[in-house]
Amino acid sequence: MTNLKNLSIEELQGFIKKLGYKEYRAEQILNWIYVKGAEDFDKMTNLSKKMQIELNKQFVLPTLPLVGKIESNDGSIKYLWELHDGGRIESVYIPEKSRKTVCISTQVGCGMGCSFCATGKLGLDRNLEEWEITEQVLSVQKDIGKRITNIVLMGMGEPLANTEKAIKAIYRMNELMQIGARKITLSTAGIVPEIYKISRIPIQFRLAISLNATTDELRSELMPINKKYPINELLQAGSYYAKKKHIRVTLEYIIFKGLNDRKQDAMRLANLSLKLPSKINLIPYNPVDNLDYKRPEDKVVERFKSFLYPVAPAVTIRWSKGRRVGAACGQLRGEN
Ligand code: SF4
Repeated sequence: MTNLKNLSIEELQGFIKKLGYKEYRAEQILNWIYVKGAEDFDKMTNLSKKMQIELNKQFVLPTLPLVGKIESNDGSIKYLWELHDGGRIESVYIPEKSRKTVCISTQVGCGMGCSFCATGKLGLDRNLEEWEITEQVLSVQKDIGKRITNIVLMGMGEPLANTEKAIKAIYRMNELMQIGARKITLSTAGIVPEIYKISRIPIQFRLAISLNATTDELRSELMPINKKYPINELLQAGSYYAKKKHIRVTLEYIIFKGLNDRKQDAMRLANLSLKLPSKINLIPYNPVDNLDYKRPEDKVVERFKSFLYPVAPAVTIRWSKGRRVGAACGQLRGEN
Protein backbone atom coordinates (compact mmCIF):
# COMPACT_ATOMS: atom_id res chain seq x y z
CA MET A 1 0.00 0.00 0.00
CA THR A 2 1.29 3.45 -0.88
CA ASN A 3 1.30 6.34 1.59
CA LEU A 4 -0.62 8.95 -0.38
CA LYS A 5 0.55 11.74 1.93
CA ASN A 6 4.14 11.29 0.79
CA LEU A 7 3.31 11.65 -2.93
CA SER A 8 3.81 14.86 -4.89
CA ILE A 9 0.87 16.17 -6.94
CA GLU A 10 2.53 14.85 -10.10
CA GLU A 11 3.09 11.41 -8.61
CA LEU A 12 -0.51 11.21 -7.45
CA GLN A 13 -1.74 12.34 -10.85
CA GLY A 14 0.31 9.51 -12.39
CA PHE A 15 -1.27 6.93 -10.05
CA ILE A 16 -4.77 8.28 -10.67
CA LYS A 17 -4.29 8.16 -14.46
CA LYS A 18 -3.09 4.57 -14.19
CA LEU A 19 -6.30 3.72 -12.36
CA GLY A 20 -8.20 5.11 -15.36
CA TYR A 21 -9.37 8.44 -13.91
CA LYS A 22 -8.82 12.03 -15.00
CA GLU A 23 -5.84 13.88 -13.51
CA TYR A 24 -7.98 16.58 -11.88
CA ARG A 25 -9.21 13.92 -9.45
CA ALA A 26 -5.78 14.10 -7.80
CA GLU A 27 -6.36 17.75 -6.94
CA GLN A 28 -9.79 16.95 -5.55
CA ILE A 29 -8.30 14.29 -3.28
CA LEU A 30 -5.57 16.64 -2.06
CA ASN A 31 -8.12 19.35 -1.42
CA TRP A 32 -10.11 16.95 0.74
CA ILE A 33 -7.04 16.07 2.77
CA TYR A 34 -5.26 19.41 3.13
CA VAL A 35 -8.11 21.92 3.05
CA LYS A 36 -11.14 20.03 4.32
CA GLY A 37 -9.20 17.75 6.68
CA ALA A 38 -10.66 14.44 5.43
CA GLU A 39 -8.96 11.39 6.96
CA ASP A 40 -10.46 8.68 4.76
CA PHE A 41 -11.56 8.30 1.17
CA ASP A 42 -15.16 7.51 2.12
CA LYS A 43 -15.61 11.14 3.18
CA MET A 44 -14.62 12.43 -0.28
CA THR A 45 -18.17 12.79 -1.54
CA ASN A 46 -17.35 14.13 -5.00
CA LEU A 47 -15.57 10.85 -5.85
CA SER A 48 -17.61 7.87 -7.02
CA LYS A 49 -18.10 4.92 -4.66
CA LYS A 50 -16.13 2.77 -7.11
CA MET A 51 -13.21 5.18 -7.02
CA GLN A 52 -13.29 5.36 -3.22
CA ILE A 53 -13.06 1.54 -3.05
CA GLU A 54 -10.11 1.50 -5.46
CA LEU A 55 -8.33 4.24 -3.53
CA ASN A 56 -8.84 2.28 -0.32
CA LYS A 57 -7.16 -0.73 -1.93
CA GLN A 58 -4.17 1.22 -3.24
CA PHE A 59 -3.41 3.87 -0.64
CA VAL A 60 -3.20 4.60 3.05
CA LEU A 61 -3.79 7.97 4.68
CA PRO A 62 -1.74 7.71 7.89
CA THR A 63 -2.24 10.07 10.82
CA LEU A 64 -0.17 10.74 13.94
CA PRO A 65 -1.57 9.04 17.04
CA LEU A 66 -1.82 11.51 19.90
CA VAL A 67 -0.27 10.16 23.09
CA GLY A 68 -0.18 13.28 25.21
CA LYS A 69 -1.66 16.76 25.34
CA ILE A 70 -1.11 19.46 27.92
CA GLU A 71 -2.90 22.78 27.87
CA SER A 72 -1.44 25.84 29.53
CA ASN A 73 -3.65 28.53 31.03
CA ASP A 74 -2.23 31.02 28.51
CA GLY A 75 -3.98 28.98 25.78
CA SER A 76 -0.93 27.22 24.35
CA ILE A 77 -1.10 23.46 23.92
CA LYS A 78 1.73 20.94 23.78
CA TYR A 79 1.03 17.81 21.75
CA LEU A 80 3.00 14.58 21.91
CA TRP A 81 2.66 12.27 18.89
CA GLU A 82 3.85 8.70 18.51
CA LEU A 83 5.32 7.62 15.18
CA HIS A 84 4.89 4.20 13.57
CA ASP A 85 8.31 3.09 14.85
CA GLY A 86 7.65 4.23 18.43
CA GLY A 87 9.56 7.52 18.14
CA ARG A 88 7.91 10.54 19.75
CA ILE A 89 7.75 14.11 18.59
CA GLU A 90 6.11 17.27 19.84
CA SER A 91 4.25 20.21 18.39
CA VAL A 92 3.09 23.33 20.16
CA TYR A 93 0.03 25.40 19.36
CA ILE A 94 0.42 29.07 20.26
CA PRO A 95 -2.68 31.26 20.00
CA GLU A 96 -2.20 35.00 19.68
CA LYS A 97 -4.60 37.84 18.89
CA SER A 98 -4.60 37.59 15.12
CA ARG A 99 -2.43 34.51 14.68
CA LYS A 100 -2.77 30.83 15.27
CA THR A 101 0.74 29.50 15.17
CA VAL A 102 1.97 25.95 15.37
CA CYS A 103 5.57 25.11 16.13
CA ILE A 104 6.50 21.79 14.54
CA SER A 105 9.31 19.25 14.74
CA THR A 106 11.49 18.09 11.84
CA GLN A 107 13.49 15.32 13.53
CA VAL A 108 13.08 12.81 16.34
CA GLY A 109 15.54 14.29 18.84
CA CYS A 110 18.34 16.49 17.53
CA GLY A 111 22.02 15.98 16.82
CA MET A 112 23.14 19.59 17.24
CA GLY A 113 23.88 19.20 20.94
CA CYS A 114 23.14 22.77 22.06
CA SER A 115 24.05 22.82 25.72
CA PHE A 116 20.94 24.70 26.90
CA CYS A 117 18.37 22.60 25.05
CA ALA A 118 16.23 19.74 26.34
CA THR A 119 15.92 18.22 22.85
CA GLY A 120 19.67 18.44 22.31
CA LYS A 121 20.15 16.19 25.32
CA LEU A 122 18.25 13.41 23.55
CA GLY A 123 20.62 13.16 20.59
CA LEU A 124 19.33 12.38 17.10
CA ASP A 125 17.09 9.39 16.50
CA ARG A 126 16.00 9.98 12.92
CA ASN A 127 14.77 12.50 10.37
CA LEU A 128 11.04 12.92 9.95
CA GLU A 129 9.37 12.02 6.67
CA GLU A 130 7.76 14.84 4.74
CA TRP A 131 4.25 13.71 5.68
CA GLU A 132 5.18 13.45 9.39
CA ILE A 133 6.19 17.13 9.32
CA THR A 134 3.04 18.32 7.52
CA GLU A 135 0.73 16.05 9.47
CA GLN A 136 1.54 17.87 12.73
CA VAL A 137 -0.15 20.97 11.32
CA LEU A 138 -3.20 19.04 10.08
CA SER A 139 -3.55 17.25 13.41
CA VAL A 140 -3.30 20.41 15.51
CA GLN A 141 -5.74 22.16 13.18
CA LYS A 142 -8.19 19.30 13.57
CA ASP A 143 -7.87 19.34 17.35
CA ILE A 144 -8.43 23.08 17.79
CA GLY A 145 -11.07 23.27 15.07
CA LYS A 146 -9.59 26.43 13.58
CA ARG A 147 -7.31 27.17 10.65
CA ILE A 148 -3.62 27.53 11.44
CA THR A 149 -2.28 30.83 10.10
CA ASN A 150 1.45 30.63 10.90
CA ILE A 151 4.01 27.86 11.07
CA VAL A 152 7.44 27.77 12.65
CA LEU A 153 9.82 24.89 12.03
CA MET A 154 11.38 25.35 15.43
CA GLY A 155 10.28 22.32 17.44
CA MET A 156 12.41 19.23 17.96
CA GLY A 157 15.29 18.92 15.52
CA GLU A 158 17.34 21.02 13.14
CA PRO A 159 15.35 21.57 9.91
CA LEU A 160 18.51 22.08 7.85
CA ALA A 161 19.79 18.67 8.93
CA ASN A 162 16.69 17.36 7.12
CA THR A 163 16.50 20.00 4.42
CA GLU A 164 14.93 18.04 1.60
CA LYS A 165 11.98 16.82 3.66
CA ALA A 166 11.56 20.15 5.46
CA ILE A 167 11.40 22.07 2.18
CA LYS A 168 8.99 19.60 0.60
CA ALA A 169 6.78 19.95 3.67
CA ILE A 170 6.94 23.76 3.36
CA TYR A 171 5.85 23.54 -0.28
CA ARG A 172 2.98 21.25 0.73
CA MET A 173 1.84 23.61 3.50
CA ASN A 174 2.04 26.55 1.12
CA GLU A 175 0.51 25.05 -2.01
CA LEU A 176 -1.94 22.54 -0.58
CA MET A 177 -2.82 23.93 2.84
CA GLN A 178 -2.79 27.46 1.44
CA ILE A 179 -0.62 28.97 4.15
CA GLY A 180 1.29 32.00 2.82
CA ALA A 181 5.02 31.39 2.39
CA ARG A 182 5.81 34.47 4.49
CA LYS A 183 3.78 32.99 7.31
CA ILE A 184 6.17 30.04 7.46
CA THR A 185 9.48 30.41 9.32
CA LEU A 186 12.35 27.95 9.31
CA SER A 187 14.66 28.34 12.28
CA THR A 188 18.21 27.04 12.11
CA ALA A 189 21.13 26.67 14.48
CA GLY A 190 23.32 27.64 11.52
CA ILE A 191 24.23 24.99 8.97
CA VAL A 192 25.81 27.44 6.54
CA PRO A 193 25.93 25.43 3.25
CA GLU A 194 22.25 24.54 3.67
CA ILE A 195 21.34 28.22 4.14
CA TYR A 196 22.94 28.94 0.75
CA LYS A 197 21.05 25.99 -0.71
CA ILE A 198 17.63 27.15 0.50
CA SER A 199 18.43 30.73 -0.56
CA ARG A 200 18.21 29.54 -4.16
CA ILE A 201 14.77 27.96 -3.75
CA PRO A 202 12.16 30.36 -5.13
CA ILE A 203 9.58 30.05 -2.32
CA GLN A 204 9.84 33.02 0.07
CA PHE A 205 9.48 31.51 3.51
CA ARG A 206 11.17 33.28 6.39
CA LEU A 207 14.48 32.34 7.95
CA ALA A 208 15.35 32.67 11.62
CA ILE A 209 18.90 32.17 12.85
CA SER A 210 19.29 31.00 16.41
CA LEU A 211 22.26 33.22 17.32
CA ASN A 212 22.23 33.39 21.15
CA ALA A 213 25.78 34.75 21.56
CA THR A 214 27.87 37.55 20.12
CA THR A 215 31.33 36.01 20.42
CA ASP A 216 32.50 32.78 18.83
CA GLU A 217 33.87 31.68 22.16
CA LEU A 218 30.51 31.75 23.94
CA ARG A 219 28.51 30.60 20.93
CA SER A 220 30.74 27.55 20.46
CA GLU A 221 30.16 26.71 24.12
CA LEU A 222 26.37 27.00 23.76
CA MET A 223 26.06 25.64 20.22
CA PRO A 224 28.82 23.28 19.02
CA ILE A 225 27.83 23.87 15.36
CA ASN A 226 29.53 27.27 15.75
CA LYS A 227 32.96 25.58 15.75
CA LYS A 228 32.28 24.54 12.18
CA TYR A 229 30.40 27.64 11.03
CA PRO A 230 31.38 30.66 13.12
CA ILE A 231 29.28 33.79 13.53
CA ASN A 232 30.70 35.79 10.62
CA GLU A 233 30.20 32.98 8.11
CA LEU A 234 26.72 32.39 9.45
CA LEU A 235 25.67 36.01 9.15
CA GLN A 236 27.13 36.19 5.63
CA ALA A 237 24.91 33.25 4.68
CA GLY A 238 21.96 34.98 6.37
CA SER A 239 22.70 38.11 4.39
CA TYR A 240 22.74 36.10 1.15
CA TYR A 241 19.35 34.62 2.07
CA ALA A 242 17.90 38.05 2.83
CA LYS A 243 19.09 39.47 -0.48
CA LYS A 244 17.93 36.53 -2.56
CA LYS A 245 14.47 36.49 -0.98
CA HIS A 246 14.07 40.25 -0.38
CA ILE A 247 13.22 39.50 3.20
CA ARG A 248 14.57 40.34 6.66
CA VAL A 249 16.13 37.48 8.57
CA THR A 250 15.23 37.10 12.24
CA LEU A 251 18.11 36.81 14.68
CA GLU A 252 16.88 34.81 17.66
CA TYR A 253 18.73 35.62 20.85
CA ILE A 254 17.98 33.59 23.95
CA ILE A 255 19.01 35.61 26.99
CA PHE A 256 20.66 33.64 29.79
CA LYS A 257 21.10 35.16 33.22
CA GLY A 258 24.67 36.37 33.79
CA LEU A 259 25.95 34.86 30.53
CA ASN A 260 24.92 37.04 27.60
CA ASP A 261 22.70 39.70 29.20
CA ARG A 262 25.14 42.58 29.73
CA LYS A 263 25.35 45.93 27.99
CA GLN A 264 28.44 44.90 26.00
CA ASP A 265 26.57 41.82 24.72
CA ALA A 266 23.73 44.07 23.57
CA MET A 267 26.13 46.45 21.82
CA ARG A 268 27.82 43.59 19.99
CA LEU A 269 24.45 42.12 19.05
CA ALA A 270 23.28 45.46 17.68
CA ASN A 271 26.43 45.74 15.55
CA LEU A 272 26.17 42.17 14.29
CA SER A 273 22.57 42.78 13.27
CA LEU A 274 23.77 45.55 10.93
CA LYS A 275 25.61 42.98 8.81
CA LEU A 276 22.36 41.83 7.20
CA PRO A 277 18.75 42.96 6.72
CA SER A 278 17.43 41.66 10.01
CA LYS A 279 15.27 42.02 13.05
CA ILE A 280 16.08 40.74 16.51
CA ASN A 281 13.86 38.51 18.60
CA LEU A 282 14.87 38.32 22.26
CA ILE A 283 13.80 35.18 24.11
CA PRO A 284 14.24 35.02 27.89
CA TYR A 285 15.56 31.52 28.60
CA ASN A 286 13.08 28.91 29.77
CA PRO A 287 14.76 26.85 32.48
CA VAL A 288 15.00 23.11 31.92
CA ASP A 289 15.45 20.61 34.78
CA ASN A 290 19.03 19.37 35.20
CA LEU A 291 20.53 22.23 33.20
CA ASP A 292 22.39 25.03 34.93
CA TYR A 293 21.24 27.95 32.81
CA LYS A 294 18.95 30.51 34.38
CA ARG A 295 16.32 32.93 33.18
CA PRO A 296 17.10 36.63 33.68
CA GLU A 297 14.61 38.85 35.48
CA ASP A 298 12.10 40.56 33.20
CA LYS A 299 13.58 44.00 33.93
CA VAL A 300 17.01 42.78 32.77
CA VAL A 301 15.45 41.68 29.49
CA GLU A 302 13.75 45.06 29.04
CA ARG A 303 17.03 46.85 29.80
CA PHE A 304 18.86 44.65 27.28
CA LYS A 305 16.32 45.67 24.66
CA SER A 306 16.82 49.35 25.47
CA PHE A 307 20.61 48.99 24.97
CA LEU A 308 19.98 47.78 21.41
CA TYR A 309 18.14 50.94 20.50
CA PRO A 310 18.74 53.02 18.33
CA VAL A 311 21.43 50.96 16.54
CA ALA A 312 19.01 48.03 16.12
CA PRO A 313 15.49 49.39 16.33
CA ALA A 314 13.62 46.30 15.07
CA VAL A 315 13.51 44.26 18.26
CA THR A 316 10.78 42.17 19.80
CA ILE A 317 10.74 40.19 23.03
CA ARG A 318 9.11 36.79 22.95
CA TRP A 319 7.67 36.26 26.42
CA SER A 320 7.31 32.56 25.60
CA LYS A 321 3.89 31.11 25.94
CA GLY A 322 3.67 27.55 27.15
CA ARG A 323 6.37 27.82 29.82
CA ARG A 324 4.24 26.09 32.38
CA VAL A 325 3.75 23.01 30.22
CA GLY A 326 7.35 22.73 29.08
CA ALA A 327 6.31 23.76 25.60
CA ALA A 328 8.47 26.82 25.19
CA CYS A 329 11.60 27.17 23.07
CA GLY A 330 14.33 24.71 24.08
CA GLN A 331 12.03 22.70 26.36
CA LEU A 332 10.77 20.00 24.02
CA ARG A 333 11.98 16.55 24.87
CA GLY A 334 9.38 14.06 23.68
CA GLU A 335 7.74 13.25 26.97
CA ASN A 336 4.90 14.47 29.13
S1 SF4 B 1 18.31 24.32 20.18
FE1 SF4 B 1 17.48 23.47 18.27
S2 SF4 B 1 19.34 22.88 17.12
FE2 SF4 B 1 19.99 23.14 19.25
S3 SF4 B 1 19.86 21.06 20.12
FE3 SF4 B 1 17.89 22.14 20.53
S4 SF4 B 1 16.53 21.51 18.86
FE4 SF4 B 1 18.65 21.05 18.22
